[in-house]
Amino acid sequence: MLKNMSDYFVRTLREDPADAEVASHKLMVRAGYIRRTAPGIYSWLPLGLKVLRNVERVVREEMDAAGAQEVLFPALLPAEPYQKTDRWDEYGPTLFKLKDRRGGDYLLAPTHEEMFTLLVKDLYSSYKDLPTVLYQIQTKYRDEARPRAGVIRGREFVMKDAYSFDIDDEGLDASYDSQRAAYQRIFDRLGLPYVICAAMSGAMGGSRSEEFLHPCEIGEDTFVRAPSGYAANAEAVVTPAPDPVDASHVPAADVRDTPDAGTIEDLVRVSNELYPRADRPWEAKDTLKSVVLTVVHPGGEREVVNLGIPGDREVDMKRVEASFAPAEVEMATAEDLAQHPELVPGFLGPQACGPNYEGRTVDADGNPSGSVRFLVDPRVVDGTAWIAGGNAVGKHVYNLVMGRDFTADGTVEAAQIRQGDPSPDGSGPLQLARGIEIGHIFQLGRKYAQALDLKVLDQNGKSQVVTMGSYGIGVSRVLAALAEFYHDEKGLSWPMVVAPFHLQVVAAGKGEEIFSTAADISAAVSKAGFDVLYDDRKKVSAGVKFADSELMGMPYVLVVGRGLKQGVVELRDRRGKSAREIPVADAAQVIKAELEANLEANE
Ligand code: ATP
Ligand code: MG
Repeated sequence: MLKNMSDYFVRTLREDPADAEVASHKLMVRAGYIRRTAPGIYSWLPLGLKVLRNVERVVREEMDAAGAQEVLFPALLPAEPYQKTDRWDEYGPTLFKLKDRRGGDYLLAPTHEEMFTLLVKDLYSSYKDLPTVLYQIQTKYRDEARPRAGVIRGREFVMKDAYSFDIDDEGLDASYDSQRAAYQRIFDRLGLPYVICAAMSGAMGGSRSEEFLHPCEIGEDTFVRAPSGYAANAEAVVTPAPDPVDASHVPAADVRDTPDAGTIEDLVRVSNELYPRADRPWEAKDTLKSVVLTVVHPGGEREVVNLGIPGDREVDMKRVEASFAPAEVEMATAEDLAQHPELVPGFLGPQACGPNYEGRTVDADGNPSGSVRFLVDPRVVDGTAWIAGGNAVGKHVYNLVMGRDFTADGTVEAAQIRQGDPSPDGSGPLQLARGIEIGHIFQLGRKYAQALDLKVLDQNGKSQVVTMGSYGIGVSRVLAALAEFYHDEKGLSWPMVVAPFHLQVVAAGKGEEIFSTAADISAAVSKAGFDVLYDDRKKVSAGVKFADSELMGMPYVLVVGRGLKQGVVELRDRRGKSAREIPVADAAQVIKAELEANLEANE
């Protein structure tokens, strides 16, 4: 393909858009790839659309090679299947819901498990039909609380979603491994580095689950790596519980006055001033802080919970959310707290919560009521002694021992993971990094098939519930991740596999010969099957053309200019690795060979 800049539908901008914070977003807007339509909703301009289609092509080729078959569902769907699996409620405010003119409930699909399950149920009835893997590349809708960074977190975005259907668990394992391998090939071909991390399966249910994270500072996910090679999303890290401690030497718990100790820092200071320890100073890790939250269950029921966390650790809301999914978690409101007058803000401790509170009753079925649920960090093991809230203004209780003076309703993974924390597999300290989730694969198991009654007859003629896997790639997000990874201060710098054009030809100068030579070479290279953007603009200076070519980011730039008098043109590599003069006569041949070699590396 050959396009001329003079009539190509693109306008580059010199200024960064006001709402953009990350480089990929700024550059994609400035270079004329995308335009914002509404928060988290973008239009694709010709350049952007070409990259999007190229990413899709690689994904499609590898899905097809893995034996998956492409279908296409509507984005606008009836509510009923999603009501059957409870996701109509579980997805919460993230689900775009709408009504048709007859009052029927519809949604804009955030993901399509239900529809694929029903389609297979419609058409298949025997184990002989399985295994099968179906996929689509399609627009998804999620009313994200915080759309961010251009198309990295959109409210409308393009996803590849695939679903596997197997008769038994071994089959599911094989389908999962095959998709996993296809994902590795996709990201390898795209040239996008990734780490495969153990993940939480979240609202989807199911068991084995891994995320492909692209390591990147601006990513919203935190992941860990251990010396063994173990990697996990921080949300999925299970804190190794220490062994119980001998507390026989710990004095009896006693309530003390702690004036002006509203924060952990003040509490440590006041404790050292008024009640110094003989062996060492008090530290934040000696305190147990209460974090009161409201869990909003899928039906809308609000439940106040108290989390007991070592005072030297912050709460990581993403870990909290993952722990309580599909319920949502909010800070407790004044109204929520009004239901529980026993909770004294700022001085709340274990004894007003959970099984410790005298107001708790348990009914015949064993269901407790009368006190809020009390969950502790896994490090709060039997025998550990704490300074905790005294449940009265200005009071804290000292030497409060877990297992002796209080207990909990269970543990919770809520505390932040820190660099150097022990790895769950015992292999040593954890390294922390940030990443962008570019893909997610998981074994759904029988949850959806059960809910929607997808069964087939097995070898013995017995009806069996099918087991499923679900595999997503954020196609539009991957494009932005590539832009983020491949750019410099001057602009974008696409790898050959996804670049909108392989070569940008810049006619740099005034003479007619410059333009005719540039046009000839452009035509010859494009005829060989490459995509060429020819900057044929007459009234634009060479400097502006160079700046535009660097901003737009084609992998190669050919400059036809001053050198022409000596019979040469200059081929530049956008990454600045090479710039060489080639005789005009050989130009088309040399360029074709160069592009060919570079392209082959990814195909
Ligand atoms: P996240 O945790 O980032 O919100 P998710 O876990 O909800 O993502 P999945 O349901 O696993 O997302 O969707 C599959 C893939 O779709 C993700 O791995 C991600 O690459 C992409 N994706 C999800 N949400 C968005 C979004 N709002 N914008 C762009 N891509 C997205
Ligand atoms: Mg995910």
